[in-house]
Amino acid sequence: MKFIFVTGGVVSSLGKGLTAAALGTLLENRGLKVALQKFDPYLNVDPGTMSPYQHGEVYVLDDGAETDLDLGHYERFTNVKLTRLNNLTSGQVYQTVLNNERAGTYLGKTVQVIPHVTDEIKNRIHLLAEKTKADVIITEIGGTTGDIEGLPFLEAIREFALEVGYNNAIFIHVTYVPFIKAAGELKTKPTQQSVAKLREIGIAPHIIACRCEKPLDKEVRQKISMFCNVPLEGVIEAKDVDHSIYEMPLMLQRERMDDLVCRLLHLTTPAPNMAHWQEIIRKLIAPQHRVRVGVVGKYIGLQDAYKSVYEAIIHGGIGNDCGVEIVQVDAEEIEKFGADKMLKGIGGILVPGGFGERGIEGKILAAKYARENKIPYLGLCLGMQIATIEFARSVLKLEKAHSTEFDENSPHPVIALLDAQRKVTKKGGTMRLGAQACQLAVGSMAGKLYGSFVVHERHRHRYEFNNAYREKFEKAGFIFSGLSPDGKLVEVIELKDHPFYIASQFHPEFLSKPHQPHPLFKGFIAAAHQHIHHKPL
Ligand code: GLN
Repeated sequence: MKFIFVTGGVVSSLGKGLTAAALGTLLENRGLKVALQKFDPYLNVDPGTMSPYQHGEVYVLDDGAETDLDLGHYERFTNVKLTRLNNLTSGQVYQTVLNNERAGTYLGKTVQVIPHVTDEIKNRIHLLAEKTKADVIITEIGGTTGDIEGLPFLEAIREFALEVGYNNAIFIHVTYVPFIKAAGELKTKPTQQSVAKLREIGIAPHIIACRCEKPLDKEVRQKISMFCNVPLEGVIEAKDVDHSIYEMPLMLQRERMDDLVCRLLHLTTPAPNMAHWQEIIRKLIAPQHRVRVGVVGKYIGLQDAYKSVYEAIIHGGIGNDCGVEIVQVDAEEIEKFGADKMLKGIGGILVPGGFGERGIEGKILAAKYARENKIPYLGLCLGMQIATIEFARSVLKLEKAHSTEFDENSPHPVIALLDAQRKVTKKGGTMRLGAQACQLAVGSMAGKLYGSFVVHERHRHRYEFNNAYREKFEKAGFIFSGLSPDGKLVEVIELKDHPFYIASQFHPEFLSKPHQPHPLFKGFIAAAHQHIHHKPL
């Protein structure tokens, strides 16, 4: 079994996760079984309790683990199915070590960062190796070299590589090579210093992936090679992509990164066939059609808050050979300026998941605008609850209908807490989480789109459709097209007499990939394109 460790230097947000994922794509296409893992040095047990301002999106796995958004990249770029084993935080490590200490596992020893914390980190790599039986495990270490909290992780991977041998483990360091306009030059000093920092700890990278805005010329490559002590072919240009993150695997392939990785790890595999991936890029760069869709949210200024939603929309576009321009609409602006002003000329409206009251009325206005003007609507989790509240207020004339999340005293609580949630007091990991089965109604739009009647989708919520109102809704043309197998929980709703109005209590965006666009997103973009076709911009 082979191990690749990906670290980052100079600054954060360099796309280490994307680099790891893109390398995963290439290795998978060489016929290798790949597993990807992320270590996060913060003390939260998982990111589930963090605000999107702190962390961006929380990515949910089949087993209900709430994880870092890089795991979303891993699943989108490869065919791996991740579990909670694939994301380790310092919080989890310390929790285990402290529980062990209380249980007396350490037999009277002083419990220390080395070896107890580092052993726990190494264990997690071994555990994943055992569980997945992968040929190659790619482990990404979050944070930036030089961070105090990252040190135990770096020490652990240094020890790990020594133990399995350098034929079986390599280090890839992702750095930044800034272009200084005034000098008209790319500068290598930050990279040199970051690698020096790593070597101080005892890690000598085999490959340096250089994020840059301009191509690395020969001279710059030679300088990095010389001063960072890596062969020239180990200096990889990771220039900002022109169109899409999905160009990354092809870019790394052009730099022969996968080739070098395989040689360093003594893996004999054929060169990857990336024809299908090239076709994806073709559709992204030169699509036959184009459409604009609006995403109405409250974290609109934050690029990472709706990561998987934006990606799934793009995938829906790929599935229709259709370029999608995503218009990010702040729900509060709809409250101020009206839906017509903010959403006019848009092919489809999507309301994603969310928590808390801010912007709720704006989202309700967006759902109303979509329903009344027959504009395609896709609601995700909170987006389904919003559609429900809107329908209750406007069509059923249930004044002040609401979710008890936002108005505990609503006379018509059409969305309310799940029974199982009423007793919950702790915040971490206590929502309805992970993959659950959903039965789709025969003849429903959802059934047609999926082409199947039982689907498994990922959840992350506490509130549900209130069954006391089912009959009333049904009579007025609100269709419950997806239910939990016992029929008790509403999972998908849609509207009669509307070209495309679907919303789900689950998060379909977590299961979409560029090479397997999710059926709901594919259907949404097709409908949006159809809509704009009839009413050109
Ligand atoms: N806040 C809602 C709930 O908890 C929706 C959650 C979500 O959109 N992920 O049910």
